[in-house]
Amino acid sequence: MVVKTERDDMTWYKCEKCGLLFDDQGDASQHEGNCDAEDPSYIQ
Ligand SMILES: [Zn+2]
Repeated sequence: MVVKTERDDMTWYKCEKCGLLFDDQGDASQHEGNCDAEDPSYIQ
């Protein structure tokens, strides 16, 4: 899930899986679809 966050008076979109920040929501969504970081919810 992409998380909207504000930093330095700018809105960023963060990949919840790996923490990468994007300045464009579309880029963030696209990245997340390809993100191979493990989802913490799968770790038990
Ligand atoms: Zn990611």
